[in-house]
Amino acid sequence: MPLELYNTLTRGQEPLTPADPAHVTFYTCGPTVYDDAHIGNFRSFLAADLLRRFLESPLCTLSDASGAPHTGPRAVTHVMNITDVGHMTDDDDADGGGEDKMEAASKRLAEQQAAAGGQPSAKKHESKKSGTAHASLGSIDPRDPRQIAAFYAERFVEDARRLGLKVAIESEADPTVMPRASERIDQMKAMIESLAERGYAYRAGDAVYFDVQRFPSYGALSGNSLDALKGGAGGRVSDEHQSEKHHPADFLLWKSDPSHLMKWPGPKINGEQMPEGYPGWHIECSAMARERLGDELDLHSGGEDNIFPHHECERAQSCCTTGSDTFARHWFHPRFLMVEGEKMSKSKGNFFTARDLFDKGHEPAAVRLELLKTHYRANANFTEQGLKDGARVIERWRQFIARTDAKADPATTADARRTAQAGFVRAMEDDLNVAGALGSINSFITAVPTPSEQDASLLRNFDAVLGLLELERPAAEETSIGLFAAGLDPDPRVIELLELRRDARKSKDFAAADAIRNELTALGFAIKDAPGGKVEVSRA
Ligand code: AMP
Ligand code: ZN
Repeated sequence: MPLELYNTLTRGQEPLTPADPAHVTFYTCGPTVYDDAHIGNFRSFLAADLLRRFLESPLCTLSDASGAPHTGPRAVTHVMNITDVGHMTDDDDADGGGEDKMEAASKRLAEQQAAAGGQPSAKKHESKKSGTAHASLGSIDPRDPRQIAAFYAERFVEDARRLGLKVAIESEADPTVMPRASERIDQMKAMIESLAERGYAYRAGDAVYFDVQRFPSYGALSGNSLDALKGGAGGRVSDEHQSEKHHPADFLLWKSDPSHLMKWPGPKINGEQMPEGYPGWHIECSAMARERLGDELDLHSGGEDNIFPHHECERAQSCCTTGSDTFARHWFHPRFLMVEGEKMSKSKGNFFTARDLFDKGHEPAAVRLELLKTHYRANANFTEQGLKDGARVIERWRQFIARTDAKADPATTADARRTAQAGFVRAMEDDLNVAGALGSINSFITAVPTPSEQDASLLRNFDAVLGLLELERPAAEETSIGLFAAGLDPDPRVIELLELRRDARKSKDFAAADAIRNELTALGFAIKDAPGGKVEVSRA
């Protein structure tokens, strides 16, 4: 079966059929860089990365336009923007009301510096929604949102690379795959001018709006209708600018505001120069997607909150610019991440950035697995226990590869390989059923006690899709990794005891450590402390 994916536009699972099955074009809405990205953001980005990796894998079959299977080889051009322009606090506000996120972050930093007697505050704090400034921002001028954005953009790329986001890794050699909005203002203005020339956009006072009534399928992606939006569905449309708009759902393409911290010379609307200001959020992605990927894309992704208004608006602007009725053929929207069963929020203390978790000693591979292991269309539940379990799963895979025996006869495990590969591919081709794919891998590992080179190579092929084993490993004593001697299949209960013993020794509770050693002996394991915090384990 070729890969089938749920498509938000058609509201059904259907084969992914790129225009050219050998080269898939894929755009992902990236982060707004006024703070460090949180694990919810990364869940969306990593789901897109998983899809991209599967498309690149020789294990993935697609349908071509005639319905014939395409097995590769296949390249993916994946673009993810960085929003460093600063946008309204309330992204749903069609009129651009509310406070600018970047300006909010900038103000907060200035306040903190003032409160600390001119020194940046050491407090790591507050809400992602309104922006957070960090102690290490000391060298940055809080009045300069460009410096703040550049700082967070750099940290984002660093985190993304640690988590194995391919587009971020690739951007080192090819920065055009991670365009910065602030460097693409001319492309946005060209699009706005072209839309206005052809009657899809109009000037009203200090703003330029997109005329939604000129795009008959506005609402098709999100399931909204213009009539429902007329009534200000969901309180999205503020009253302030209603009188000057043709329709309440008309959205901002440009706002002239010379007092704005981040501003650029305005576009020319039907020959008339607009005063300086800034572009609307939606036009960014339309311009950046088009620049690198062309008029029509195979795939477009973003978190579920991007469906409306952001992607609805992108689609309208892009189609009206190019004259095509297609912008992205397939829309991929991962659901939101919950933490310990609840919505993430600072006040509940369940709000984590990726950095928070790395700082707590969790290895990037465990974070990646915890964020990927639930189907992307289910609300994933992130737990610290899940992180620990994930670290053990990954360790089990590492041990499998470490146990590879060049003398093992691959013929004896041929059936296990066939079953595992069929199970993995079937699961992934069924709308990226990652839990099913992980189940196939784990059954394979259990079925093959002494792996041959071919067995190890199959696991590596699976892992090229999941992207775990290539990630940096923490120091040996920090995890269960260093605790196991090659040849032992780590039993979770034993690992837990070893970790408890390590913690007891760290806190100099030697009585407890000895009691745990006795428990391990009773279970049939002999342990020996080795240099560097390592513990060698053997069957007693
Ligand atoms: P932002 O930096 O706020 O523009 O968000 C970047 C991306 O993260 C967007 O695609 C959002 O839809 C996505 N996102 C935000 N919060 C969550 C969450 N809790 N779970 C999953 N994705 C999220
Ligand atoms: Zn976007």
